Amino acid sequence: RAKDMGSNNFQFYAREMNARVEEKLVLLDGLRQAVQATLDGASDNGFRLLYQPKVDLRTGRLFGVEALIRWQHPEHGMVPPQRFIGLAEESGLIVEIGEWVVREACRQARAWVDAGLPPVTMSVNVSARQFEEARLVERIATALRDTRLAPELLELEVTESLIMRDMQKSVARMRELEAMGVSLSIDDFGTGYSSLSSLKTFPISRLKIDKSFVSELADNPDDQAIAMAVISLGHKLNLRVIAEGVETEQQRAFLRENECDEMQGYLFSRPVGADAIVDMLEAYALELELATA
Ligand code: C2E
Ligand code: MG
Ligand code: MG
Ligand code: MG
Repeated sequence: RAKDMGSNNFQFYAREMNARVEEKLVLLDGLRQAVQATLDGASDNGFRLLYQPKVDLRTGRLFGVEALIRWQHPEHGMVPPQRFIGLAEESGLIVEIGEWVVREACRQARAWVDAGLPPVTMSVNVSARQFEEARLVERIATALRDTRLAPELLELEVTESLIMRDMQKSVARMRELEAMGVSLSIDDFGTGYSSLSSLKTFPISRLKIDKSFVSELADNPDDQAIAMAVISLGHKLNLRVIAEGVETEQQRAFLRENECDEMQGYLFSRPVGADAIVDMLEAYALELELATA
């Protein structure tokens, strides 16, 4: 009997595992199709970018946006990045997807410049495999050249764990980007394991306090201590500090009182389509005009 049960269990797990492998293969196949559909400009399948505003905590100025990818799936609707970036990374598809993201983000940023809107920096997330790929710098240079976007308007967001994989290589790569005029920031800061001393080695201009430290900022003294430490560390290293995931007025007030420079989060705006960013920038430009009239 015990033997029967063991074998039943085995069959159960085998079936589970097959189902999981199957699911992954279906997803991978879907991803490949989405890459093709995106490059073909299909309207019913493919990736699109949303943009989330970044605002200056002191002046309220909308100074930048972060591009966040979505997969418009023909059956499942809008698929969030957590569902497919991991597999894209594992399969290497991230290189093609990431190249599309950079080009599309640069094209959009340039279109806003051409429309005479107040300048905003465009931040793009870069994952490990994409960052380490041999032609990354060349791909970015080409995207900038083709879209005629000033490199100063492009920022790349990398994570601590990514740049710590091979510090020397990372520094070299980051220096190449910096020499081109592109800036770099460390995303999800505090969740990885970079040593504090290694921070000064990287040519970065900004630290992003991870939203896990922001969500309970109003009443968790530990998170308050962490946020204050990151802000003061960043400032001592001459970096700008931005908080992500700011959802409440209390969080904003705390960050402002503690001299955090910038914020990003649902309190100001969720990630939105390009048109909504245009509306915000137009409203902001009008405000500026009124203020100086
Ligand atoms: P991330 O770069 O740390 O982006 C911040 C995430 O927090 C985004 O989730 C954003 O929508 C969400 N968020 C923003 N404000 C708030 C808030 O006030 N409250 C809460 N609860 N969440 C907020 P999203 O768009 O689902 O992206 C998740 C992650 O996927 C990103 O984390 C980034 O690591 C990755 N990702 C997104 N787009 C790309 C891309 O184009 N390329 C690569 N390689 N990774 C991407
Ligand atoms: Mg990011
Ligand atoms: Mg982040
Ligand atoms: Mg994060």
